[in-house]
Amino acid sequence: MKPNNHWLNFINGQWCDSSEHTLISDPATGENFATIACASPEDIDSAVKAARECVESRSLSACRPAERAQMMLRIAQEIKAIAEQAAPLLVKENGKTLADAKEEFLIAARYFEYYAGMADKIEGKSIPLGDDYIDFTFYEPVGVSAQIVPWNFPVDICARSLAPALAAGNAVVIKSPELTPLAMTWLVTACQRANVPAGAVNLLNGKGSVAGAALVEHPDINQIVFTGSVPTGQLILQSAAKYAVPSVMELGGKSAAVVFEDADIEQLIESVKWGIYFNAGQVCSAMSRILVQREIYSLVVERVTALAASLEAGSGMEQAALTPLISAQQQQQVLAMCDKAQAQGARLTTGGNTVAGLKGHFVEATVFADVTAEMEIFSTEVFGPVVAITPFDSEEEAWQLANGTDFGLVAGVFTQDLSRAMRASRALQAGQVFVNEWYAGGIETPFGGIGLSGFGREKGQEALYSYVNTKNVAIRVAAAKA
Ligand code: NAD
Repeated sequence: MKPNNHWLNFINGQWCDSSEHTLISDPATGENFATIACASPEDIDSAVKAARECVESRSLSACRPAERAQMMLRIAQEIKAIAEQAAPLLVKENGKTLADAKEEFLIAARYFEYYAGMADKIEGKSIPLGDDYIDFTFYEPVGVSAQIVPWNFPVDICARSLAPALAAGNAVVIKSPELTPLAMTWLVTACQRANVPAGAVNLLNGKGSVAGAALVEHPDINQIVFTGSVPTGQLILQSAAKYAVPSVMELGGKSAAVVFEDADIEQLIESVKWGIYFNAGQVCSAMSRILVQREIYSLVVERVTALAASLEAGSGMEQAALTPLISAQQQQQVLAMCDKAQAQGARLTTGGNTVAGLKGHFVEATVFADVTAEMEIFSTEVFGPVVAITPFDSEEEAWQLANGTDFGLVAGVFTQDLSRAMRASRALQAGQVFVNEWYAGGIETPFGGIGLSGFGREKGQEALYSYVNTKNVAIRVAAAKA
């Protein structure tokens, strides 16, 4: 950072300014408080060149994997060391609570620890072809990994892709989200302090349509890892097609919790609180729909409504239960979707409005009951604190409703019946199924979607294999002389 709260790009081991800057504002007040350099097309080119030189130097790929693991552990240490200092900045630019912001840095550190443990275990296979051959595989880094990050969990999501990429020996060019680029610079500072080679980690800021587009269109990248909205993902896939660049797409969701009459209601309500109101509902895997067996439908609507009505809005620094949305535009979009839901016949039981007396981009915790599959609120991602509740009568109907959108990121089931939970885990079309706890799982569990939620997996051991190419070596062994 330069004086006056002005932030920079990081290219080839150097912090660099540029001629264009953008303003960063605080969602809790709407006030601008910092500026950041926007990467020009020349900056994008320099960053990709630096990453390419790092790949060609083989400084990360040719060293003993255990040394790379040590580098990863140093990064984790540095992230933990800056977490206290950096977390308030994440609150200021994103609006989330201070506790969640600190946790985001600790999760980021944990990604580096987890993938440090894998850096020296990326083992190939020996394939039997008979006595005349020796055949084996090994894994090579993909090369230059271009990673595009969204604004809702910028530090967490950045670390989620950066850590496995470095563990596998790649060089990375990161494009930060235009609304929340600041805290990520601390993550890159941690890499710098851990003595990551020049060019191994580059950070570019600026508009998606300019800097992001130039990065994904660059002819010298070897991979794209994108986390963001479906329309942007679709646009990026068109660029990826030009040079057949392999991609990981982590897109949106409209995930359903299926609640049976034997569910533990207290457990459910705790899950709803986190599932849809955490981070003001700006979570790709949010519990944005609840499908409830008719026997307990009224009770669940009543309890979820009471929960939502009890959540007090305020700033993240005050540790409020309901924090602001990221921008005025997002706030308007969410309110417009609430209006449409009512116009289409959904029953608003609480919320649906801005929060009186607060200046920032707040929307009340909102509940819609009696939502049917024909309504837009049933199948369109809101990305705000809005939940849609729908009754069902049979298991088959529940699966049909849960699977009735184009998305398939996560799904959940609340029941005491293990057999039913297992049937749900097969029937629900999603990358991950939670049983009796929304967001169960962690860094160790693979995460990603099907359908419009994208493809490829992040997290867990599986993610690392997105960052390598398999090479097979087949050796003809000379026959023994007679
Ligand atoms: P977005 O698509 O608007 O932006 C995401 C990123 O893409 C930003 O860095 C942006 O600058 C960049 N970008 C925009 N246009 C681009 C272009 N033409 N070329 C290259 N890059 C471009 O998404 P958002 O509003 O930041 O995030 C919200 C969306 O992200 C939601 O749909 C949410 O569900 C999804 N999301 C998914 C996950 C996941 O892991 N599946 C996680 C978080 C968010």
